[in-house]
Amino acid sequence: MRDPDCIFCKIVAGELPSQKVDEDERTVAFMDISPATRGHVLVVPREHVRNLLEVDPEDLQATMATAQRMARRVSERLGVAGVNLLNACGSAAWQTVWHFHVHVIPRYEDDPLRLPWIPAEGDPAEIEAVARELR
Ligand code: 5GP
Ligand code: ZN
Repeated sequence: MRDPDCIFCKIVAGELPSQKVDEDERTVAFMDISPATRGHVLVVPREHVRNLLEVDPEDLQATMATAQRMARRVSERLGVAGVNLLNACGSAAWQTVWHFHVHVIPRYEDDPLRLPWIPAEGDPAEIEAVARELR
């Protein structure tokens, strides 16, 4: 089902302009309007769903397969040095459009992107405690 207020549903339906680069039965890939780097693609399921927590596993699988296809394509055609896949789930995690999507972000040796955290060794007891909560 689509959401009449969702910009990505409108893009999927062709009611809003976009630069589509791939489509299949379950997914659509199009260029991000504010690219983080050259070739930044978004992959969405055709079906409207809010985020990672709610997406149907088959749509998730199809979205990741399209993301891999796009990662391969940017690698082959754009001379990229690497690729990041990113999903933002929830506003605290930077989600701004509430139709599940995966960012395919080509990486270049001289690009300005940086890890959003500073890696530092954690407290083993805290790691063990949270691991217990997750088992
Ligand atoms: P989020 O922050 O939810 O992970 O990512 C939303 C992405 O959608 C952003 O990277 C933003 O640039 C992109 N975006 C927002 N509105 C539009 C639009 O109308 N068209 C396209 N192609 N991308 C959009
Ligand atoms: Zn939608």
